Amino acid sequence: MDMGIAGRTALVCAASKGLGRGCAEALAAEGVNLTIVARTAETLEATAAEIRKQSGVEVKAVACDITTPEGRAAALAACPQPDILVNNAGGPPPGDFRNFTHEDWIRALESNMLAPIELMRATIDGMSARGYGRIVNITSSAVKAPIDVLGLSNGARSGLTGFVAGLARSVAPTGVTINNLLPGLFDTDRIATTFEAQAKAQNISIEEARQRRMKSIPAGRFGNRDEFGRACAFLCSVHAGYITGQNWLIDGGAYPGTF
Ligand code: NAD
Repeated sequence: MDMGIAGRTALVCAASKGLGRGCAEALAAEGVNLTIVARTAETLEATAAEIRKQSGVEVKAVACDITTPEGRAAALAACPQPDILVNNAGGPPPGDFRNFTHEDWIRALESNMLAPIELMRATIDGMSARGYGRIVNITSSAVKAPIDVLGLSNGARSGLTGFVAGLARSVAPTGVTINNLLPGLFDTDRIATTFEAQAKAQNISIEEARQRRMKSIPAGRFGNRDEFGRACAFLCSVHAGYITGQNWLIDGGAYPGTF
């Protein structure tokens, strides 16, 4: 299916690895020119070079922390008028809420709620004026079914979700859609570190920890960044103009509810 977005411009945050990279690659495969952002210049440049080689699109790489005002200013200087915005950043650490400090909460809110809101604030009116915009926020299945040790994520991402529900309706008449993608378990560096911690805590091998988690997923496997990216590209396509304010769970059937 032709997504109808060749030649458009996208700003994809936290995209040197994992799910953000999957979104960048899938958009590039549709002919979208990219600005990709991550903190480590070397990894980011390597990703940018690979995407250019795979797809032939223009890829600008901006090494910065997207959760800071300076980082967002650098990203927007490289890509002031994106047609597509993919919001993403690292997830907050696990822990018991009794041990979370005020600063821990502020960091989680900056990363997983306020940075996406600031980037939407900077770009959405331009999208509306041009009559086309697609915003995708990478959140988490924790928004739909909270994960006990991820209180910071449950809270901060739910704040973003509630805000977006209202904003999406307000810009709908202008051709701009905003949707959230909710990953379940995907095979990225982020979950690799989780398995290391679980293996250590349960005194089992990392592979055993992986297998145990995999068995809890009806699909019998973890997701991969390519299938996540393809879902993102569809939401950014001309075909998804009537889909807005939605929360798409991509979790191999792990969420047990009927809807
Ligand atoms: P990952 O660790 O594989 O990749 C994270 C990417 O984000 C890297 O490119 C990193 O450089 C970049 N990054 C992190 N913080 C950044 C910042 N402040 N500024 C700029 N770039 C930054 O992680 P992932 O698995 O792709 O996860 C992406 C998001 O999805 C995270 O918020 C994570 O919590 C969430 N999530 C992931 C899963 C999963 O199974 N992988 C499940 C639920 C939620």
